[in-house]
Amino acid sequence: MNAQQRKTSQPQTLPMTKNQMERGVEAVEWTPESIKQVNATLEGSSPEAILRWGFDNFAPSIVLATGFGPEGIVLMHLVSQIRPETIVFYLDTDLLFSNTYDLRDELVKRLGIRFERVYSGISLPEQGFRHGDKLWERDPDTCCHIRKVIPQRQFLANYSAWITGIRRDQTAFRANTPLAGWDFANKMVKLNPLAAWTSDQVWEHIHANDLPYNILHDYGYPSIGCWTCTKEVAPGDDPRSGRWSGSIKTECGIHLPTIKTE
Ligand code: SF4
Repeated sequence: MNAQQRKTSQPQTLPMTKNQMERGVEAVEWTPESIKQVNATLEGSSPEAILRWGFDNFAPSIVLATGFGPEGIVLMHLVSQIRPETIVFYLDTDLLFSNTYDLRDELVKRLGIRFERVYSGISLPEQGFRHGDKLWERDPDTCCHIRKVIPQRQFLANYSAWITGIRRDQTAFRANTPLAGWDFANKMVKLNPLAAWTSDQVWEHIHANDLPYNILHDYGYPSIGCWTCTKEVAPGDDPRSGRWSGSIKTECGIHLPTIKTE
């Protein structure tokens, strides 16, 4: 039975990890309710402790997601110290800034990150042929669904848990983000080790450890996605206001099901 088939029914029973077998721990049956209880015990824990809990319970069936924002840099730094063999995946929409690819290459050199590129398999000309040119201007939800949500869903079907860098104070929508929650869309566990951190804490960690970051952050781009949907913001403005500027869209869709249902 493959991971996708396992996910068609709940609850999810995970195979025991090598760590668990060595410790004589019994296989855990994860449900939305049981992960909620774990979340309550993790509240107040450090990001390192949350990551260790994740690796203890899910490795090697756990991956870290990054969009190369400052939170992702912090998590990659921590993961490189705790479990360096962890796969870090990113969604390559074909529309990322060149600075983002430069940062990816720098992270490989500096932290030895094992990146996996997740791609829709649909080129921009092909998308234009099917949906018309510049779909992001007319229907960004469909564009994000094609280039981000579907490829990520297919990729995550091979795993039992994923880690993200979202934080509660980023948007009103993210305010209830748990440290550990159930991802109903992907039927798996989702860890958000930095959920309780502030932006200042993230940047303190980056500077204290002399970590690389996207140079565009120094030029008025606090939140960076596809170049087609990212604008410079004025000092003091909402840091995410440069994303899909001028539309009501605030999320690409990869985090919606988890936050909405909790
Ligand atoms: S951020 Fe914009 S260009 Fe990128 S996938 Fe979403 S709508 Fe398309």
